[in-house]
Amino acid sequence: MKQRNTLSVVIPVLNEADAMALLLPQLAQQLHRCRLEWEIVVVDDGGTDALADVVHAFEHRHGHCNVQLLRLSRNFGKEAALSAGLAAARGEGVVCMDGDGQHPAAILPALIAQWQAGNDMVVATLASREHESPLLAWTKRCFYAFLQSSERFRIPPDAGDFRLLDRRVVNALLQLPERSRFMKGLFAWLGYRTATVKFEAAPRSAGRSKFRLRQLFGLATLGITAFSLRPLRMVSGAGALISLAAVAYGAYIAIETLVEGNHVSGWATLASGMMLLSGIQLLCLGVIAEYLGRIYEEAKQRPLYLLDEVTDHSVIGAGARGKQVHG
Ligand code: UDP
Ligand code: MG
Repeated sequence: MKQRNTLSVVIPVLNEADAMALLLPQLAQQLHRCRLEWEIVVVDDGGTDALADVVHAFEHRHGHCNVQLLRLSRNFGKEAALSAGLAAARGEGVVCMDGDGQHPAAILPALIAQWQAGNDMVVATLASREHESPLLAWTKRCFYAFLQSSERFRIPPDAGDFRLLDRRVVNALLQLPERSRFMKGLFAWLGYRTATVKFEAAPRSAGRSKFRLRQLFGLATLGITAFSLRPLRMVSGAGALISLAAVAYGAYIAIETLVEGNHVSGWATLASGMMLLSGIQLLCLGVIAEYLGRIYEEAKQRPLYLLDEVTDHSVIGAGARGKQVHG
């Protein structure tokens, strides 16, 4: 088996400077313990806070520190920021983690041990969802159940983006050309030898979640349209069912007319039937439009993100590269 001695830690952040000031020293401490060469890749996803100062202060305090700081030209979203970090990472292994302190640095040695034991992907799974409201946890379970029944691979409900990927997994991921990047789904799609390590998510060390209900709904729609054709099949199913009901009701009216004559009644049935049917038709159109929109996004072939500034102090991988700063 090839060497597994260099590690990159990729952290996408949006206005998370306070939490990063706590996380970076914790990370450095854990990584030192693991006796491997490491770098930290911080991706600033269009934030407006003093992240750069926090990173520079950290580097200053720890001397030779190997940090790459990438600034995207605006906020592109966590999934794009993660892709930017993965593309920049040089380690033989890459850890993806959040910068808000919810992903504890303390489990890094466990992830690394599993990777060095031969696993290509080591997934940190939530031991419990205590920090989430029961309604949100239930909705997430339903979402994964819906996504699941249509696929050959399992997207585990308790696993997020917190994981360690071997270089060949990262390279495979970077090869995927799609713009709709529902990372949890893509990770699962890749396959490879996978191990899991359980962890307790800590409460955020500062700030508040960037994923409000609207963003979560958007992410869920992205996940479904990118990984399941089930809604489209449900549209066909609904069409077939309503047609059958219409034929049965038509037959009933014909028989009733033959037996009892025509009373010219039933306008209420007609009106409510029409409203129901136009509602269902619009809903189905909406579902189809969601997929169409996704194709439109893919067809435009725009880059996933744009880099504004790269400050690269990392020397791992390609030997001593020295300090370089691109503006
Ligand atoms: N994040 C990001 N870009 C965004 C939204 C979030 O880079 O547009 C980062 C955020 O700073 C954090 C991570 O993604 O490091 C997870 O976000 P958050 O903690 O808000 O999500 P939650 O834990 O609530 O799911
Ligand atoms: Mg969080």
